[in-house]
Amino acid sequence: MLEIVTYPNEILKRKTNPIKAVDSEIKDIIKQMKETMYQNDGVGLAANQVNIPLSIMIIDTTPNDRYKDEDREIFKSVLMNPELLEKSGQISMKEGCLSFPELRIEVPRFSHIKIKAINEHEEEVIIELSGFPAIVFQHEFDHLNGITFVDRLSGLKKRIALEKYKKSLKEKVPT
Ligand SMILES: [Zn+2]
Repeated sequence: MLEIVTYPNEILKRKTNPIKAVDSEIKDIIKQMKETMYQNDGVGLAANQVNIPLSIMIIDTTPNDRYKDEDREIFKSVLMNPELLEKSGQISMKEGCLSFPELRIEVPRFSHIKIKAINEHEEEVIIELSGFPAIVFQHEFDHLNGITFVDRLSGLKKRIALEKYKKSLKEKVPT
C-alpha cells in the first residue's frame, strides 16, 4: 500500500505531468492506487496524493464505510490526462479528502460536466457526469492541477478551515 501525503506537503500544490502511455509501470501504479484508496475508504484518489506527480485519478463512488449514502450514483473509473470540456449548474455538499484527515467542508462545484480522458485500456473516453460523481471528479481534477478543496473557499472561509484542520492534527498526535 502507498502512503497518503497530507496537507501542506508541497506535491499537493504542484500540477501533475501527463502520462505518455499506459505501460506496465503505469498499470502497477494504478493497481497500488486502487489498493490504497479502498484501504482508506476513499471515493477518489489523485496520484500526487500518494507522492506520484502524474495525471492519474481513481474514482469509485460505491458506498463504503466512510460514505454510506446509498442514493448516490455509482461511478467507477480510472482516468488519466483528464480535461474538462463542458461545465454547467451548481452543486455543493460536504466533501472529505484523504490528504486532510478529519476536515469536511462544503465547496462550490459544477453539477454537470463533460470530460475527456484516457482510461485504463489506453482508450480516449468522453463522459458526462452529474451529481456526486461530478463532484468527486472535480475534487480529483483539482488535485491533479495542484489545487486542494480549501483553495476553493474564499479567503476567510479558507483561513477558518485551515485553522480547524491544524487544530485537529494537534489533537490527534498524542494517541
Ligand atoms: Zn482530496
